[in-house]
Amino acid sequence: MTSPPTDPYQRRIDYLRLSITDRCNLRCTYCMPEGGVPKLAHGDILRYEEILRLARIVTAMGISKIRITGGEPLVRRDVLFLCGSIAGIPQLRSLSITTNGVLLGRLAGGLFQAGIKRINVSLDTLKPGKFASITRQDCFEEVWKGIMAAHEAGFAPIKLNAVVMRGVNDDEIADLARLTFEYPFHMRFIEFMPFKEADYDDRFLSSEDILDRLRNVGELVPVESTDSNGPARHYRFAGAMGKIGIISPISNHFCPTCNRLRVTADGRLRTCLFAREETDLKRALRLGASDEEMMLLIRTAIADKPERHELDSRAFRKCISRPMFAIGG
Ligand code: SAM
Ligand code: SF4
Repeated sequence: MTSPPTDPYQRRIDYLRLSITDRCNLRCTYCMPEGGVPKLAHGDILRYEEILRLARIVTAMGISKIRITGGEPLVRRDVLFLCGSIAGIPQLRSLSITTNGVLLGRLAGGLFQAGIKRINVSLDTLKPGKFASITRQDCFEEVWKGIMAAHEAGFAPIKLNAVVMRGVNDDEIADLARLTFEYPFHMRFIEFMPFKEADYDDRFLSSEDILDRLRNVGELVPVESTDSNGPARHYRFAGAMGKIGIISPISNHFCPTCNRLRVTADGRLRTCLFAREETDLKRALRLGASDEEMMLLIRTAIADKPERHELDSRAFRKCISRPMFAIGG
């Protein structure tokens, strides 16, 4: 098996987050403007054969983990076919997906059959009314049914992701965490990242504050992570089936162990979530670049991967280039 590429900071780059659409059926306040955003033209989005070719090229380079994301990946037509095709790439060790769960009730079984074995579902609240105000859509029941459908389909563990915002859902940290007593889910709390939110500083809650709230639920025992490069710190409550994860992109940089690349729905390669530089892979693909030329382009981008982001600097935050739905989170 080919060893993954390394960057100048000796990080092994073995993970790609692949966005397959910029469209979404929700409008989360922390991610999208209420009126939505101008959609990319159909021709600007990578076609399935282009996505599959890119997936084959990166796996041949030694990148062995791919996560499908978006926008909302499940709104793209024939997503099961695409997932099945990527899952069939022999060198791929892990294929996963991040979804808002709205369409999971219908698609969970098919995704599992297609070869996706790891699933992350966004869940910021357990209250239907609050769900509607955060996502601007009244779909809590669908998402909960979707999570249950994924559970029944055999996904294990299911990772649930909550973006924590002060005054919005921080009062539910304990209730969300208690799900780990009832289900074998991993409940992960993510620090809110700034994407042009006017009230960002008032809403931000650090991972230390989140941990303090969690300690009111019970004793939190740190546990080893099976995914050494993942950005989460893991804990478990005594007697719980599932784990707790804390993801702190702001207060506790995970840059030193960052192993990831991102490709946006319009085929731009980003070596850092918050980078300003992108490499236009779609253009190269459409100009007829060979696999070797594509690999060279990707290696050149990896050689320029920034050592760290500067999200803790206000000046930097003001010029974040693209919001999450456009990058893939
Ligand atoms: N639509 C899918 C979903 O929501 O799970 C996948 C794409 S979404 C952009 C990927 C992840 O980014 C989600 O877990 C979402 O909660 C997270 N995210 C979006 N905006 C964020 C922000 N401002 N701060 C922290 N996480 C954010
Ligand atoms: Fe859509 Fe996911 Fe962004 Fe919410 S976080 S608006 S579900 S892309």
